[in-house]
Amino acid sequence: MADDCIFCRIVDGDIPAQVVHQDDRALVFRDVNPQAPTHLLVIPRRHVVSVDHLSPDDEALAGHLLLTAGTAARSLGLEEDGYRVVTNIGRDGGQTVSHLHLHVLGGRSLGWPPG
Ligand code: 5GP
Ligand code: ZN
Repeated sequence: MADDCIFCRIVDGDIPAQVVHQDDRALVFRDVNPQAPTHLLVIPRRHVVSVDHLSPDDEALAGHLLLTAGTAARSLGLEEDGYRVVTNIGRDGGQTVSHLHLHVLGGRSLGWPPG
């Protein structure tokens, strides 16, 4: 756990969040500043900075996060019209919170390519 990490503090319950799904390795909660009608964040409970910081030992965790994104999306009915799973990495990727998270965006048509 990184003391100055917002998402670690959410995992620890120090900062409230609208949790929609959780298990032993992952937490899914609503983004505080949603960019779509449904905007979820899927995070590992363990502090990992980004996809770029995953190691081969994290292969199962990485797969679990992706599967969890799908499970959470389906639980909210997003699969019918489709949705997007995206993760930002570093400065040029637009990452603002240095704790790995998958964004799950749905409920509207999403543009491509991103800005
Ligand atoms: P990034 O820009 O790193 O890809 O995404 C970080 C996301 O975390 C942003 O969409 C931002 O709105 C969200 N966020 C930042 N702080 C909090 C918080 O305290 N609670 C919740 N639920 N979301 C947060
Ligand atoms: Zn963290």
